[in-house]
Amino acid sequence: MNEPIIKLEKVVKRFGDTTVLNELDFEVQPGEKVTIIGPSGSGKSTVLRILMTLEGIDSGMIYVAGQPLWHEYKNDALVPAGEAHLRNMRKHMGMVFQQFNLFPHMTVRRNITEAPVHVLGLSKHEARQRAEEYLELVGLADQADKFPRQLSGGQQQRVAIARALAMRPRIMLFDEPTSALDPELVGEVLSVIQRLSQEHDLTMLLVTHEMQFAQQISDRVCFFDKGVIVEQGTPETLFANPVEPRTREFLKGVT
Ligand code: ADP
Ligand code: MG
Repeated sequence: MNEPIIKLEKVVKRFGDTTVLNELDFEVQPGEKVTIIGPSGSGKSTVLRILMTLEGIDSGMIYVAGQPLWHEYKNDALVPAGEAHLRNMRKHMGMVFQQFNLFPHMTVRRNITEAPVHVLGLSKHEARQRAEEYLELVGLADQADKFPRQLSGGQQQRVAIARALAMRPRIMLFDEPTSALDPELVGEVLSVIQRLSQEHDLTMLLVTHEMQFAQQISDRVCFFDKGVIVEQGTPETLFANPVEPRTREFLKGVT
């Protein structure tokens, strides 16, 4: 086995009195496609948000691409990460949210070029080329001059995917990317994610309620409940032969 590209060791996350992640251990291998399923409130989004450094942690360690995420080494001592370290670590990851989170006042093209210019230091010209490349990939090459509100939800979500990809992250995090969409728009977004799942080098972590889709694209499915992984395995095993009563109960409710 390779060194994991994501590694959580006994991660604890609390909001007030609520323990959302309870000494969570979790590893993802480079290139692996992992789906997280579980009831609402089980901590699925929180896992993605702490990886993306949108939320801090209370204890435990996280490593991304072999480096501590929320900590850094200074003179051989492990200390809380400074802003510069966090900025660097964020570059490994792109995230796609349930609610798209596009910048409403920017065109589609600007939405995509903004971070490559300001975070990666690309020239405007390079960033525009990248935007074209990824808009092409998500099937929206002709929509670059529109504003988000002029697009359907499915198109907006595909722009959000292009925007994340334009940073060329090694890891893509998807948090229920189709949950906010009208049913007829789900397919176009899933087919883009499906295509990405065929990229050998890209590591994917996907939270979804689309069980059939999870079954198709995942190397591994993890069932979360109350901030721990209750059960995990290949989609064949987990969906066909869940062992834990809580997994069975959950799957009965959603399939
Ligand atoms: P999931 O994505 O599995 O539905 P979340 O990770 O969003 O679950 O949330 C897990 C728990 O943490 C829930 O009980 C939720 O109410 C709580 N929580 C999440 N974010 C916050 C926050 N910013 N402040 C307070 N509680 C939060
Ligand atoms: Mg969630």
